[in-house]
Amino acid sequence: MSRAADVAGWTVAEAVERLDAEEISSVELAQAVLEAIGRRDGAIGAYLHVDADAALAAARAADERRSRGDRAPLLGVPIGLKDNISEQGQPCGCASRILRGYRAPYDATVVRRLREAGAVLLGRLNMDEFAMGSSTENSAFGPTRNPWDRTRVPGGSSGGAAAAVAADIALAALGSDTGGSIRQPASFCGCVGLKPTYGRVSRYGLVAFASSLDQIGPLTKSVDDAALLLSVIAGRDPMDSTSLDAPVPPADVARTAPDTLQGLRIGLPVEYFIPGMDAEVEAAVRAAIARAADLGAEVREVRLPHTRYAVAVYYLVATAECSANLARYDGVRYGLRIPAEDVIEQYGRTRAAGFGPEVKRRIILGTYTLSAGYYDAYYLRAQKVRTLIRRDFEAAYRECDLLAAPVTPTPAFRLGENVDDPLNMYLGDILTIPANLAGLCAISLPAGRTASGLPVGLQLIAPPLEEARLLRAAAALERAMGPRERPPRTEEAR
Ligand code: GLN
Repeated sequence: MSRAADVAGWTVAEAVERLDAEEISSVELAQAVLEAIGRRDGAIGAYLHVDADAALAAARAADERRSRGDRAPLLGVPIGLKDNISEQGQPCGCASRILRGYRAPYDATVVRRLREAGAVLLGRLNMDEFAMGSSTENSAFGPTRNPWDRTRVPGGSSGGAAAAVAADIALAALGSDTGGSIRQPASFCGCVGLKPTYGRVSRYGLVAFASSLDQIGPLTKSVDDAALLLSVIAGRDPMDSTSLDAPVPPADVARTAPDTLQGLRIGLPVEYFIPGMDAEVEAAVRAAIARAADLGAEVREVRLPHTRYAVAVYYLVATAECSANLARYDGVRYGLRIPAEDVIEQYGRTRAAGFGPEVKRRIILGTYTLSAGYYDAYYLRAQKVRTLIRRDFEAAYRECDLLAAPVTPTPAFRLGENVDDPLNMYLGDILTIPANLAGLCAISLPAGRTASGLPVGLQLIAPPLEEARLLRAAAALERAMGPRERPPRTEEAR
């Protein structure tokens, strides 16, 4: 294996250590990762756009800062961004045709914070169009492939982010999670994905899908890296009125976590071990939970009785909110414009040509459920059931500190397997959606593989703002489960 390949496989923490020790410069590190992208991404398709010049300029600036004694936490660390997070001057197309040619005029708050911390931004990562989907097949620019098996999907909607981290063509990435879009691809690709508490991380500059559910979070090679990135991006932001003013867990919260889980009460929601779940997924998750018990955790069953309504509630709330949020793509202000005689005709033509089928389906559904006469029956009712789902969690957390469950009912499915069956695709979100509806924090971490080699994720779910508890438990379990496994290199597999 070449030196370049090794370097791109470093965790963020490893890279920081070696940069600090001056074993490598930020420019050398950026070059190595850019080379790895050049060699491997052809077979994966994680990136929509790579700006090597901007990355190298940022790396030079990082080396300069370091030479002046600056020790910002991510100084010189190459990171990828999902294509819905605004980065000034770069394309921000949400993998949609309708944003063709659009470049973000400003930095998202998370991007500003990454830059202040010294990160080197590599490029734009593929996703399902406007973050709607679970496989990255809804990208207008073609799917990303799972690095473990390129006939399979990487998950979605942050599939490019998960695949890039797993394939060692980014040290880490930021994605967004509205109903599972960080955790599910992390699970399918064998990396760590953290969905922070709603309001923990500013959404300013994140292209809105469903505003009451969206949250930005890290996809990383380790729990420690997730904690490190969270400490950089989290915290109150005057530009997002829903961002919370709460103390952020320190960067070393995972690294300094004890090995034991003594005193931790882990709840297993019986409703999350659903009939029809893949047997190997269930076995891997139960084995990970047995590890937690070995580490001293007390494991007990809990009930979340309204779980069976979660998918229906989510697909009412999320479509309603997206129908409002996507009204702004009218061919006047951004991106694509199909000119016509009058402006109404222009809206129609632009939206017909610019949006893909899944986005149209959701806008139509959401517009319907918000319309007079149906609002009470669908949207209002969904909001009420959402409250019941949140109360289920409040009751469960009176009996336990954390919940443990699978992330998805199956491992990564085949490309094309679900594209003609949106309902089946939606049903796969059953285990991730409730944490978004209830505003909780949750993490997916690798918990072994199936006989055919596909990664399986374990999900831990904690009460709002309990990221420290979540990350400590995840770190202890990660250590107990042993070193990170890597997918075969695409240049070798080819
Ligand atoms: N798969 C879910 C959906 O299609 C979740 C998407 C997300 O979290 N952005 O809406």
